[in-house]
Formats: sequence, structure tokens, C-alpha cells
Amino acid sequence: MLSDIRIVLVETTHPGNIGGVARAMKNMGLSDLALVSPKIFPSEQATARASGADDLLAAARLFGSLKDAIADCQLVIGASARLRTIAWPELDPRTAAAEIAGLPEGTRSAIVFGREHSGLTNGELEQCHFLLHIASNPEFSSLNLACAVQVVAYELYLAAGQGGSGRRSPPLADGEQMASFFDHLERTLYDIRFLHARRSSPSIMRRLRRIFNSARIEAQEIHLLRGILTAAQLSAAGAGTPHAEEN
Ligand code: SAH
Repeated sequence: MLSDIRIVLVETTHPGNIGGVARAMKNMGLSDLALVSPKIFPSEQATARASGADDLLAAARLFGSLKDAIADCQLVIGASARLRTIAWPELDPRTAAAEIAGLPEGTRSAIVFGREHSGLTNGELEQCHFLLHIASNPEFSSLNLACAVQVVAYELYLAAGQGGSGRRSPPLADGEQMASFFDHLERTLYDIRFLHARRSSPSIMRRLRRIFNSARIEAQEIHLLRGILTAAQLSAAGAGTPHAEEN
């Protein structure tokens, strides 16, 4: 998904901002940078601010108009610091990222960022399917260009499933596994004489259920717990200890 997303900067004035954008993009796994008539580029300032993301600057493509920069894109989103008075389909960064993540594989999309002083023109916004606004102080809503790209790029990174530890969490135990575990736990508690009178058992079992249910136990962990219960039962019966991995 990330390789199909283009960041388009329209008529950027400060080359340092272009470098900052390249860095923000590379941090978040984006690589396709398009520059529409930048004022000064290439530039040492851009390279300095890219701090290691100069490969993105070297690969950046220059275009004479926004129309050319987005010619091969099926979805175009324009980032705007101002809330427009005219009705325009508007997304926040998270919804925009989800929209892109939901596109069929291989769909090209572009997110367009405007000039430092005047943003995007209405004519440019008209070429966008959606408008994207980063919620901010209404009296001071304009973020630095590279900061705006950073916020959006981070959401794209998360939506692409690259967040957290980078691995899927293992499946949790299902209802059936938990029910058999609680049965086993109750039987064991009688075997080891923790529970005596049947009357006290419901409230103790209810509390134990609460403890174990709130632990969000993984399917694999249930095997470990049941192994411990089996060992306790065998020990109470005076039969020695089974192998730790046995149910
Ligand atoms: N003064 C300009 C803002 C320019 S900031 C204006 O009022 O429009 C440069 C670019 O960064 C903007 O064109 C936009 O693409 C992006 N940007 C800055 N703040 C933003 C925000 N709060 N939401 C969405 N995009 C923002």
C-alpha cells in the first residue's frame, strides 16, 4: 500500500521544507515524492533537512502542473489548513488513511500539499476527490508543511499495518477453551482441597473467572495453565509430575 501513495508538494517556497518532507516520508515507509514547480530545487538546504532521506530527494520527480503530477492517480486527496466554507467532502487523516487502505491492490493515490503562504487554490482543490484537514487550533490552524506531511504519513503507516511491534498478536483463547479451563480449575481446586464446601464454590469461581477473563489469555497460554492444573491434580493424587507441555 505505501509504495502506491504519492506525496505531491505544490510550489514549495522553502527547500528546507522539501527535505523535511522527504525525512517524514522515509520514516513512515513512503517513497514517491512529486514536486510541482518548487521555487528552489535541488538545494543543499533540502539535503541537510532530509538528514539521510536524500535518496527520496534524488528520486523526486518534477512536474510543471498538479494535473501532470496526479495524471496516473485514481484517488487524489488535497490537504488544507483552512476549513472551507464551500461543501467539500472532508476527511481527517485517520479516515483518509483508512480510505486508502481499503482501495483495491495497486490503486495509485496522491495526497497534495499546498504552498507555505497560500495553500492550495480552489482550482487545485477541484482536482481532488477529498479534502483532508488536520484538526488544530482554529485560530492557528496552519502546520509547517513537513509537520503536516508527518501527521498524515504516520496515519498511513499505521493503516498499512506497520504499527506496534510489527507482528500480529496471537489469537486469544475462545469461549470453549475458557469454559473447559474453568471446569478444570474448579475440579483441581477440589482435588487440592482449596475448595471444600460446594456452597462457597460459586462466588470463588466467579471471582477467579473475573481474574482470568480480564487477563485476555492467549490460546497457547491456556495449554500452559491446564498443564499446571493437571500437575497439581496428579500431585494431590500422589502420582508424580507429568511433562510440562502435556495438557
Ligand atoms: N497559509 C496556508 C497554509 C499553508 S501550510 C493556508 O492558509 O492555506 C502548507 C500546507 O500544509 C497546506 O497547503 C496544507 O497542504 C498543509 N497543512 C498545513 N496545516 C494543515 C492542516 N491543519 N490540515 C491539513 N493540511 C495542512
